[in-house]
Amino acid sequence: MTYTSLKSNLKNPKYNLRVAHLYGDLMNTYGDNGNILMLKYVGEKLGAEMIFDIVSIGDSFKSDDYNLVFWGGGQDYEQGIIATHLSELTDELRTYIENEKPMLAICGGYQMLGQSYTLADGKQIACTGILGHYTENPGNDRIIGDVEIHNDEFDETYYGFENHGGRTYLSADEKPLGKVIYGGGNNGNSGEEGLIYKNTFASYFHGPLLSRNAKLAYRLVVIALRQKYGDDIDLPEFVDIMAKEELGQAISDIKRKA
Ligand code: GLN
Repeated sequence: MTYTSLKSNLKNPKYNLRVAHLYGDLMNTYGDNGNILMLKYVGEKLGAEMIFDIVSIGDSFKSDDYNLVFWGGGQDYEQGIIATHLSELTDELRTYIENEKPMLAICGGYQMLGQSYTLADGKQIACTGILGHYTENPGNDRIIGDVEIHNDEFDETYYGFENHGGRTYLSADEKPLGKVIYGGGNNGNSGEEGLIYKNTFASYFHGPLLSRNAKLAYRLVVIALRQKYGDDIDLPEFVDIMAKEELGQAISDIKRKA
């Protein structure tokens, strides 16, 4: 189903990108749909018409049809429902990820990309099994609060709010999205938050992640545009598309200033 309310009204778009919002009708907690709005904002600033489809239970997903994929957070209840339908999606999503196409997964979506997730009631559900991480859940102790991380490779700091029962453990072929500066991160102990595998990015950050961390939104859309239209297309720099007061990441660092 295409989001008609999000239809771009760019006059003469240079490009177009098609975005799949996986299980967008079931997994969309804590304002995660703001990530979709941010992808639209950045995409349009870069000259792209952005088209968004909800791909949910009973829909078909083909890797070649999409330039970007977003999978939001959800409660255990919805995660249990979609777990029994994941086989409709898995082969094509694996192809999409292995072909290095860009994807962002948040919280429940992040968990469902891995091997397994143990619900708060102790029952283990199978996930897509595409990525190597797995998630346990102590059942009575959620990690809740502000979180800050730093990605050394990009030299970028990201800010968010986390609220998860799951404790995620990465596999050897997954890198963290960042090192924890404060907050719980993947499991409260590893000092790591989120993951990067090829061009798949995952995180526990709500907030939503992309609205508070516009550089990550820019990174995802640029990857999608360069994959579709070539590495040599001339795109505006990040600083040219954001309002001046949005540029300083410090604006997000409310906790440290308080
Ligand atoms: N239900 C999962 C957990 O509690 C994911 C929560 C979420 O997506 N916010 O860990």
